[in-house]
Amino acid sequence: MNSCLFCSIIKGDVKGDIVYQDESVVAFRDIHPKAPVHILIVPRKHIATLLDLEQGDKGLMGDIFYAATRLAKDKGISEDGFRVVLNCGPGAGQSVYHIHFHMLGGRSFSWPPG
Ligand code: AMP
Repeated sequence: MNSCLFCSIIKGDVKGDIVYQDESVVAFRDIHPKAPVHILIVPRKHIATLLDLEQGDKGLMGDIFYAATRLAKDKGISEDGFRVVLNCGPGAGQSVYHIHFHMLGGRSFSWPPG
């Protein structure tokens, strides 16, 4: 767990552009943004993938989506719309194994995603 990049950002050992935090959730700007607004919303608790969620983490997921609504309004993307995405596992392109939701906004998005 010590080698987890997002744990290091949460602890402050690695610099992150943090835009929101509360007792269970931290959100920071993606270092390689794919949209004008690209924020990663992560739990403070280290959970490697969506498949590693436990019964006791259900409330945490609500905390994350509540943070997303706060951020959407705060960053001015709630009116036009935005996307929240989680990649689970290598086939979906997950590259950091600390669960995170990508919040993307500020442009139009096609469907289905690539
Ligand atoms: P995923 O591919 O879904 O695991 O997403 C990982 C995301 O983390 C990618 O969009 C990266 O650009 C982003 N990322 C990697 N390193 C950092 C970092 N130090 N600070 C912020 N975002 C990062």
